[in-house]
Amino acid sequence: MLEDKNQKRTSLSDLGEFGLIEHLTKHFAVNQSSTLKSIGDDAAVLDFGNKKAVVSTDLLIEGVHFDLSYMPLKHLGYKAVVANVSDICAMNATPTQITVSIAVSNRFPLEALEELFEGITLASKLYNVDVIGGDTTSSQKGLIISITAIGEANLEDITYRNGANANDLLVVTGDVGAAYMGLQVLEREKQVFQVNPNNQPDLENYTYLIERQLKPEARKDIKELLEKLEVKPTSMIDISDGLSSEILHLCKQSGVGCNLYEEKIPVDPQLIDVCEEFNIDITTIALSGGEDYELLFTIKMEDFDKIKANPNLTVIGHMTEEKEGMHLITRATTKIPLKARGWNALQNEA
Ligand code: ADP
Ligand code: MG
Repeated sequence: MLEDKNQKRTSLSDLGEFGLIEHLTKHFAVNQSSTLKSIGDDAAVLDFGNKKAVVSTDLLIEGVHFDLSYMPLKHLGYKAVVANVSDICAMNATPTQITVSIAVSNRFPLEALEELFEGITLASKLYNVDVIGGDTTSSQKGLIISITAIGEANLEDITYRNGANANDLLVVTGDVGAAYMGLQVLEREKQVFQVNPNNQPDLENYTYLIERQLKPEARKDIKELLEKLEVKPTSMIDISDGLSSEILHLCKQSGVGCNLYEEKIPVDPQLIDVCEEFNIDITTIALSGGEDYELLFTIKMEDFDKIKANPNLTVIGHMTEEKEGMHLITRATTKIPLKARGWNALQNEA
């Protein structure tokens, strides 16, 4: 009988630590000219020439940040890379390298880690980042992944959270809220499955939402797009916790207020349908649902003409003087204070 890949379970202790590292990392190629020395020595060596290096790191813990009952390991690996690449993009920098550290219990066979690294490999190829190192160790329980991403940028291009000014326009890429509702759909299916394992889920109406949750993408394209449009963003952040919480970060760090227009917030038609089905207010989800990995940034008002025709970019509001506060202008044109409720808060309520 042919052995099903999913059923083959090679114990990690058969390989030993160094055998495992060698096995998982031997396929990583070097494509970035800034990578002088990659995996294999005590440290990697990088050379950015005249550019500045940008570094960001992230820790993901099983049961806290991901649930393997509906998150396939390949997707988890992919998403872990995307989340880190997104942080580099949010500095208006270009991602170039990542390190990947894992702690894993002996509950996981080699084949599970191979799947995880398939996702890591796929994302690192797509985003053109070299995997230049990491660490591999054991954990008592569950899987822990930590990725550090490195990027490069000219000093004058690096965009911080604190550069927004009153009257700047607030712009978001893509659409928001879908990843959070994708998670709600998956959690519902998990519960249905627990009651009746023979029930085959019909997820056809939810493909976009589920893809946004399981296979998000980082907006590496935006730096290039803004250069082409000759627009220099004044402040920037990526949307990992939810639109409202990220807007408040920009406002607080920049010392400005903001008017956000409910009717302008870009949402996918599938999100509208599913919010109706779940009987949830769509604006709540658009404001507080996280993990979209879109970029949120501000531009000078006079740059509006340069971006207004671009389908990737939506102006959702404008910055004000700090004393005016942070507000949501609803469809009924009432003005209500904007609250920071990240998706964590949303989950606690559910
Ligand atoms: P050290 O004992 O000096 O920390 P290791 O034996 O842990 O070195 O690692 C050997 C090499 O393999 C190093 O270059 C390290 O960066 C790399 N490496 C270890 N674990 C991983 C991993 N999970 N992903 C990518 N590279 C890794
Ligand atoms: Mg080590």
